[in-house]
Amino acid sequence: MNLKDKNTLGLSSESPLFFAIHHESDLRELIHQVQDRKLVLPFYFLGDGSNLILSKIISNPVVQMKILGRKILSEDSESVIVQASAGENWNEFVHWTVEKNFYGLENLVLIPGTVGASPIQNIGAYGVEAKDFIHSVKGYDFEKKEWFSLTNEQCQFAYRDSLFKQSGHQSKLITEVVFKLSKKADKVNLTYKELKNHLEIHSRSATAENVLLSVKELRMNKLPDPSVIGNAGSFFKNPLLQPEKAQQLKSQFPLLPMYPQTDGTLKVSAGWMIEKCGWKGQRLGPVGMYEKQALVLVKHDEATADDVLKLAEAVKADVLRQFGVDLEIEPLIWK
Ligand code: FAD
Ligand code: NAP
Repeated sequence: MNLKDKNTLGLSSESPLFFAIHHESDLRELIHQVQDRKLVLPFYFLGDGSNLILSKIISNPVVQMKILGRKILSEDSESVIVQASAGENWNEFVHWTVEKNFYGLENLVLIPGTVGASPIQNIGAYGVEAKDFIHSVKGYDFEKKEWFSLTNEQCQFAYRDSLFKQSGHQSKLITEVVFKLSKKADKVNLTYKELKNHLEIHSRSATAENVLLSVKELRMNKLPDPSVIGNAGSFFKNPLLQPEKAQQLKSQFPLLPMYPQTDGTLKVSAGWMIEKCGWKGQRLGPVGMYEKQALVLVKHDEATADDVLKLAEAVKADVLRQFGVDLEIEPLIWK
């Protein structure tokens, strides 16, 4: 199976063993095949492929999660507990919650991908992270051969990180995510200046519906649509620096945007540094850094993972040389 149309970078990638799980019965069948030793672990779990760099040949079996379903588990006057199956489209799920007057996820609208992938890197945008609303995560662990249900705390969420990325936990297939959402429409998160300004410019009141609308407009203006130009969103994480290093950089580059974190570190804008190194809108072979947002790597022509990683290394080297900061690639690399 070629995975070219199953990853948003659009990289051609052959997977000798591919399984799509549409129903619970498909999953039970897969579990049996592993128990009967017809399939060898580890698996690679695939959602919509919007955070992946795929090599030409993938040696591990690929399992795509397609199970659909949303339900309200309980509610009171203040909040609601909602469960969504892992194959649900994240953006559609966010719209559904806001239409039902369940609030919290509106800042995360238009993030590509599935509900099941949302806990993996604890997706975040415009001041909100999935962890702020995830109640628990359920699934099946192929290595331990058991079902799991983890509380928010057990998922060890951090900036673009979670337990699910750690070794020893990558055999956990997420089947359902449970969210605790608010029924208070006026409790919106406007910590990001760009979002607050956008609402003000358009004379919009601070409601969840308006936040949803503004985030959609902001994103559509700035981010490349993967159906038009291949990309995997932000290609590097914004580095979290110790105060001493951040202070030193600030004295050298007073305009470098920095955001203090609750743990004392400072988050530094990777996009700003990449732009200062001259990479915004520049190409290296068939790939380049996007003209409107230097943090996004885009595929202009037919390309391979090697082309993508060659550009990533060139950008990393320049940022290290000029700023002394070692950037970390955000999408996951499958070999
Ligand atoms: P995939 O790319 O298919 O997989 C990503 C990882 O999750 C892999 O390790 C995979 O094995 C694992 N995984 C997927 N499903 C499961 C499952 N059911 N069980 C276990 N593991 C699983 N990210 C942000 O955080 N914020 C943003 O604002 C944002 N904007 C983006 C904008 C664009 C244009 C693009 C292309 C990407 C953006 N991303 C953003 C990155 C991406 O959308 C998210 O990381 C998303 O959650 C990936 O979902 P997916 O279903 O495509 O996962
Ligand atoms: P932006 O608003 O130009 O901001 C640049 C960076 O500064 C962002 O990455 C953001 O970090 C940080 N930032 C801005 N205001 C902040 C604040 N008040 N407090 C703390 N950090 C702040 O970014 P953008 O490219 O247009 O993206 C908008 C949002 O969508 C961002 O949150 C971004 O993360 C998210 N996004 C993510 C991806 C992805 O693939 N991961 C892709 C596209 C957009 P954070 O990234 O930590 O928020």
